[in-house]
Amino acid sequence: MHHFEYKNKELYCESVPVRDIAAKVGTPFYLYSTATLNRHFRAFDEAFTMPHITCFATKACSNIAILNLFAGLGGGADIVSGGELFRALKAEVDPRKIVYSGVGKTVDEMRFGLKSGILMFNVESEQELFTLQKVAEEMNVSAPVSFRVNPDVDPKTHAYISTGLAQNKFGIPIQGALGIYTAAQKMAHIDVIGVSCHIGSQLTQISPFVESLQKVKIFIGRLEEAGIHISYLDIGGGLGIRYDAEDPPLPAAYAEAIKNEMEGLDCILILEPGRVIVGNAGILVTKVLYTKKGGKKFVIVDAGMNDLARPSLYDAYHAIRPVIDTEEGNEVVDVVGPICETGDFLARDQEVPICESGDLLAIMSSGAYGFTMSSNYNSRPRVPEILVDGDTFYVIRKRETNEDLIAGETIP
Ligand SMILES: *Cc1c(COP(=O)(O)O)cnc(C)c1O
Repeated sequence: MHHFEYKNKELYCESVPVRDIAAKVGTPFYLYSTATLNRHFRAFDEAFTMPHITCFATKACSNIAILNLFAGLGGGADIVSGGELFRALKAEVDPRKIVYSGVGKTVDEMRFGLKSGILMFNVESEQELFTLQKVAEEMNVSAPVSFRVNPDVDPKTHAYISTGLAQNKFGIPIQGALGIYTAAQKMAHIDVIGVSCHIGSQLTQISPFVESLQKVKIFIGRLEEAGIHISYLDIGGGLGIRYDAEDPPLPAAYAEAIKNEMEGLDCILILEPGRVIVGNAGILVTKVLYTKKGGKKFVIVDAGMNDLARPSLYDAYHAIRPVIDTEEGNEVVDVVGPICETGDFLARDQEVPICESGDLLAIMSSGAYGFTMSSNYNSRPRVPEILVDGDTFYVIRKRETNEDLIAGETIP
């Protein structure tokens, strides 16, 4: 459920015609709906009735206006870099609600996290643990730690976004993880407080989550037997959304399944949802530049793979809707960008509205891993991010300029 709807054959974001925003800010641009963000965050967060913290996965959509909105709803942040920590703090996220994930934290990033007083580091290797102990010792503080275990569960999602299989680089194999917990327990500057896991993204079934949680639960039992008490259980993110014909479980069903598995566990639950909160709360608006017919029909638009990488990277599907519905029907085309790469497409052999030069198109479900994955490839300034709230829109990130492109560059 989102607030991008047609009124009189014209696409609105809440009470603002998308066409009006395009006229004011130009194209392309990302457009988010406050009501949708609120609704999705609350639907997820309120589905969990046990003690928990919803730590929004910053990498899905990291604009500080959006992080601040979630902070206002009581949310925390799951971060994967010092840059994301900086954003979260600027957005007034409570540091005691920040969890730090990722396989390659640097010493500087560890210092920044410790100095900021974050809730915990999700440590992913023995070497990372030793480094963190050393950094904490130098700073004469104690580092709160949870280990990310890899439960070897198949999330049944795209290979690039599957993280919980033994062959993936993430986490510590759960079978051997007792050893690292015992070692960490003896370290003077490490405070072992949690277990975490995150098995993948865009999961459309509950069973892999349950299977993973069952394995983690058994593991927590073994830790307790070894005298290691776990206060936080972080089950990661990964709940999928509907892009096309997927039928992912609703947050309520997901929460219910988790609740059943949590029976008897005395832990505060940490959740790291990203996509499920923001995915359908944002669109990318682009303008048709040209149409042409070769072996196929191509619609050439002003947004490319540098603006939205998901189709090129994951062969992902995004529905494409007209901003003004002319009711001329659909046709099967490739929607491509201006980038000099064959992989530069937003849609391939997809039914899209029949359109002509100058028409505006909405690339739906672009709120997650949309802007955050965008780049300056082909020296294209990154597009603005716009947030609608009711009948008002705010530019929450300006369009970059050509000057921005060369900022920091010098000719020696
Ligand atoms: C990416 C990521 C998430 C969020 O995944 P979604 O599929 O967007 O919910 C959560 N936790 C970790 C550790 C991640 O890397």
